[in-house]
Amino acid sequence: MRFSRNLCLAAALAAGVAIAQTPAELMNDAAVRAAFDAARRNEPSVVEQQVKICQIPAPPFKEEVRGKELQRLFESLGLHDVRTDAAGNVIGVRPGKAAHPNLVFAAHLDTVFPEGTDVRVTVEGDILKGPGIGDDCRGLAMMLGVIRALNEAHVETPGTITFVADVGEEGLGDLRGMKQLFGETLKGQIDKFISVDGLGLGITNIGVGSNRYRVTFKGPGGHSFGAFGMANPIQAMGRAIAKIDAFEVPTQPKTTFNVGRVGGGTSVNAIPFEAWMEVDMRSSDPASLKAVDTKFNAALQQAVEEENKRWNNRGPVSVSAELVGVRPAGQTPEKSPIVQTALAVSRAMSINETLREGSTDSNVPMNMGIPAITIGGGGGGSGAHSLNESFDVRESWRGTQRAILLAISLAR
Ligand SMILES: [Zn+2]
Repeated sequence: MRFSRNLCLAAALAAGVAIAQTPAELMNDAAVRAAFDAARRNEPSVVEQQVKICQIPAPPFKEEVRGKELQRLFESLGLHDVRTDAAGNVIGVRPGKAAHPNLVFAAHLDTVFPEGTDVRVTVEGDILKGPGIGDDCRGLAMMLGVIRALNEAHVETPGTITFVADVGEEGLGDLRGMKQLFGETLKGQIDKFISVDGLGLGITNIGVGSNRYRVTFKGPGGHSFGAFGMANPIQAMGRAIAKIDAFEVPTQPKTTFNVGRVGGGTSVNAIPFEAWMEVDMRSSDPASLKAVDTKFNAALQQAVEEENKRWNNRGPVSVSAELVGVRPAGQTPEKSPIVQTALAVSRAMSINETLREGSTDSNVPMNMGIPAITIGGGGGGSGAHSLNESFDVRESWRGTQRAILLAISLAR
């Protein structure tokens, strides 16, 4: 059996045919084994790197200093064509035998923490604590660990791997790094995409999209007694909120809406001249997201019409809705080769994980139909987006090894 298989292999090699190899088969390849050994051996220094990166502040829209450090590290690891694009994404190429398939492997530079946040990391036994230590300093450091292990094991991939430390993943960053990367910098050149975001060994193949609005209602305003009879922006907003509250949305795909913040008015005895609210709507299904968005915009117009009619257009109220955030929705089907490969990698490594949904950098390629998944960076921890964020280093090397096997399996 073994003999005949080797014969086939030899024949195929002689014919220059690429051999399809499963992740389980690749795990027995000498170079892959060497990369696994390197990942485990190097893990303490990967974690050290994680701390160093994390102590460089990277507030939203201010990722530049951390980006410079990643550029330096990409260069020192021998990546080719290391550069920073117009959005601030840092890019480095590890060429394979061919330019395609081109697998992009990314982690995000930015954090949710504003300028001036104390980003020092403390270490207590196996636990590291510091803002961003998991999300996404782990992803950045693990990515560097992958490059280093591939280099030390002299792994040559059939396709190319392009590594990216990207900007604008969090909050109002609005995935601007990915929008630039897929829309401009590497437009049409990306065949597959992996984002490493956060901890653990999960696989995300569903990208929950969101539309976020800041809505402002305006009127002339006046004395609550003297100007009584005038349309009221806060009351108009109340009508709108009541309509939003009554929306029926699908549970599958899960589609949601939320009025998250409200404000306005100047005094209890004044008809306000302004009211505002912030609204977030989400779905993994682009059509469902669009549907709830359409209902929302109609509700605003109806609320204003009703309010103005109620008060005979005296001091009429107007409304404007500013779109402050768009994260496109999408998904990579479970049956797609990239998801099947990721699941096969998990099986080969005895990792028990089910598929998840989330909102990550992968939303952008998923929305464009480019095969994409997001994986955890290994290790454990808690408190993402909080000042008490922690990272548990126990067995974190498994995250690096998983990413190595996945990258090698996909860069072919
Ligand atoms: Zn993240």
